[in-house]
Amino acid sequence: MHPIYLDNHATTPVDPRVLDAMLPYFGSRFGNAASRSHLQGREAEQAVAEARAVVANELNAQASALLFTSGATESNNLALKGVVQAPWYARSGDHVVSCATEHKSVLDTLKALETKGLRYTILPVDTDGRVSPAHVAAALEPRTLLVSIMHANNEIGTVHPIGAIGRAIKAARPDVLFHVDAAQSFGKLPIDVGAMAIDLLSLSAHKLYGPKGVGALYVRPRSPRVRLACQIHGGGHERGMRSGTLNVPGIVGLAAATRFAHSDPEESTRITALRDRLQDGLCSQLQGVRVNGGADARLAGNLNMCFACVDGAELLLEVPEIALSTGSACTSGSLEPSYVIQALGVAPELAHTAVRFGVGRFTSASDIERCISALVAAVQRIRERSPAWTSRQA
Ligand code: PMP
Repeated sequence: MHPIYLDNHATTPVDPRVLDAMLPYFGSRFGNAASRSHLQGREAEQAVAEARAVVANELNAQASALLFTSGATESNNLALKGVVQAPWYARSGDHVVSCATEHKSVLDTLKALETKGLRYTILPVDTDGRVSPAHVAAALEPRTLLVSIMHANNEIGTVHPIGAIGRAIKAARPDVLFHVDAAQSFGKLPIDVGAMAIDLLSLSAHKLYGPKGVGALYVRPRSPRVRLACQIHGGGHERGMRSGTLNVPGIVGLAAATRFAHSDPEESTRITALRDRLQDGLCSQLQGVRVNGGADARLAGNLNMCFACVDGAELLLEVPEIALSTGSACTSGSLEPSYVIQALGVAPELAHTAVRFGVGRFTSASDIERCISALVAAVQRIRERSPAWTSRQA
């Protein structure tokens, strides 16, 4: 029996079509995109220019507004540090607004900036995991520079009303910048940076069947033009905002992944149906379960559930043939229950039982049926040895 991969929020397998698009750039087309003096360099430069146009088009942005990075962690760091540390913004502010369920690459960057004088407000989320546009607008202070809110959450799949949040910020304070971490939504949900009033947007290829180690940051080019303080100094690549020789095969892979994101118009419907079947199968056969995050406005492939009296890490060990996780891969070294699940108002004891399922492009209906049977049996086995569950049933 083949192993079943249901951890598509942590990363996705590279689509074979994406790999095919990348391969020449590891071989004969090996040039440095900054070497304009010869054919190999110009070939690489051309590939990067085409990729930039494809990725920008997905955001309804102009190609020159996009910087290539090593992924969403770097993009988030560059967006936040680039604004907060820019001398040209320092006079107008020293405060950022974000939210409790953001990825660590946002929250830890804010913590690091706090040691250098930044103040920030972390907004709570409701029981579905959402922040409201009105709450965001109400948190703006006279010295707020930037708001950073993710598009879709990596643990509970909750999709924030980004357009409404963007418009609420600009209605209250046109000068405050809006950054969106779209690592989980890029290529899966429609994004229009103009209509959504987004000034900065982070994305990553490996959540979209592309390669690891490549991503991008959209930086609004005008009205207003956002100017970031450079974080990686060097040869002045990427309009001076991010030096370093470009990862040409990775960038070509990001563009191919973006193109193939829409090659099957039924994909999202199919993934949603598989996710719903998984949820129904588990909820109908097990008592003491809870689905985390709202049912509406959730990423197609996402399911996050608590199983009372079943430690999440122990459950994963019971089903070694299935790749699942108890939370974000970026916090999987931690023994603490997920801060995202706790932000929903779930008590730490129950939050310890949370398991994340991520259905993806290569998940089959039989994978889902096998997962349901294996999970139901494993939860029952663990509960049989659990005094807490036995006393709960008595
Ligand atoms: N933000 C979110 C919401 C994510 O899910 C991830 C990946 N776990 C990141 C940022 C970091 O992306 P990368 O792995 O490309 O650095």
